[in-house]
Amino acid sequence: MACTVAGNEREIFRFFKKAGCCLRCCLRFIGSRNAEFYEDPVSYLQKLKYLDEAEVVDNIPCIVCLGILQNNLLEVAIQKASEEIIAGNYDCDTFTLALTIPVTTILRERSLQIYLGQSLTLPPDVFLDLKLHTQSVKEVWKIFSVPKIEELTKKIGESGRTFSPFLVDVLFSHSCDEEECVSLLQKCNTARQFKARRRNADVNYSRKNVESTLETLSDEQFEKHSPIPPKSVESFASVDKVICAHSSIYIGGRYKKMSRNLCQTPWLINGEKKCETSVQELLCDSIVKYVKADSMKFLSSGREDVDVRTLNEGRPFAVELVNPRVTKIPDDLRELVLEINESTEDVKVTNSLKVLSKLDLKKLKEGENEKTKNYRALCIYKPKPDTLNLIQGLNDMTKLKIVQKTPMRVLHRRPLVPRVRIVHSMRARLPTPEELKNFSGAINNLGINNIFILDVKTQAGTYVKEFVHGDFGRTVPSLCDLLQTDVDIIALDVTGINLNWP
Ligand SMILES: [Zn+2]
Repeated sequence: MACTVAGNEREIFRFFKKAGCCLRCCLRFIGSRNAEFYEDPVSYLQKLKYLDEAEVVDNIPCIVCLGILQNNLLEVAIQKASEEIIAGNYDCDTFTLALTIPVTTILRERSLQIYLGQSLTLPPDVFLDLKLHTQSVKEVWKIFSVPKIEELTKKIGESGRTFSPFLVDVLFSHSCDEEECVSLLQKCNTARQFKARRRNADVNYSRKNVESTLETLSDEQFEKHSPIPPKSVESFASVDKVICAHSSIYIGGRYKKMSRNLCQTPWLINGEKKCETSVQELLCDSIVKYVKADSMKFLSSGREDVDVRTLNEGRPFAVELVNPRVTKIPDDLRELVLEINESTEDVKVTNSLKVLSKLDLKKLKEGENEKTKNYRALCIYKPKPDTLNLIQGLNDMTKLKIVQKTPMRVLHRRPLVPRVRIVHSMRARLPTPEELKNFSGAINNLGINNIFILDVKTQAGTYVKEFVHGDFGRTVPSLCDLLQTDVDIIALDVTGINLNWP
């Protein structure tokens, strides 16, 4: 405790007590930091002779904390928080406790400070010292509650500099909160803005706008808008709810897409599913179930069209798992991979799955535009005398610059900007009988004349279908330009996404 306050401590304590503060609020206003005093304020204060015999029962709702720091409500809150933590079944060994308390406690504390200044004659540095050393309701609540919640839940409460990824928020409310805050805001000079916002979006008072309003008010102005001292209250605050949430974890790997009839993500038009299932659902449902998450977000390095397969090493992907209960995840997720791969023929996890770091995720994002991709396209052309020679010539082209306007088929979701893309290399040849068989679904009635296979390595983000058929002149040059005849694409596979992943 600051020595300037020490000489007047009893007088100051008596003042707060008489004004209607609970014992713990009195202690925090005189700047006490000792956990033992907060644990059992009565014994401590009796020893100091700060308390009369009649005052040991602390059962009238405190005018500042509204009972949040009084025994009954402390116990209720600790019990409720512990029950919620246990019921949540989180495997995390630690927790960070957060507290949401009625906003009017800030108003009431300010009112009380002004009242103190009006009531006691103390040197100015004592007032300054008191303000500086006042402990917040939240800090005192945590000093008292964290050890008890630790005991009940067998988890460790993190506080101060380290934060647990598992956050427990205890929300208190009080019936006087809204009225007092709204009344202040309406009377202040922000009233006009406030009303306008309220009418538009039914915006209520928030901690932020009450705090910023208070900052602009001098003590004299505050006094006009709010009662000094704070009015007594008839009821205690109550524990509204306890919200438990673990921060997201990410799991990723690579997948092969074997089907030419599968969307990447659920495709809904007017709430109706356009594909029976999707890459996302086939891959992620098991993972979400495994970690017992509330929801998920699918992230991938680019996407393939419904009719395009992704082969070989597969496409890098990650899943954000929101509010997972299971976070102690073994390095070896082979069983989960097996479960996914056995559940479907259309999608396969290649290699392994792993828990990802923030850095991994950055790599996935960057890889989307910076890396190269390999494709295999089955193309058909209208033969002209020189076409075979021109096809042969493709093999010698490297670093071909093409300009692509946004393709017709994605115009509805991408802005219209011409973009330069690099086609690093091409290799054209006739398909083998085996390959023709693989493509059979795609070529069906087309026969096998006038077709060739093009392996192409491009800058990520190149529209390969459009590079082949030209998209009505929107991609220049296209294979139609290079081969001086009509060329179309029958089938496309992604054969390589060149990213070191996972
Ligand atoms: Zn109190």
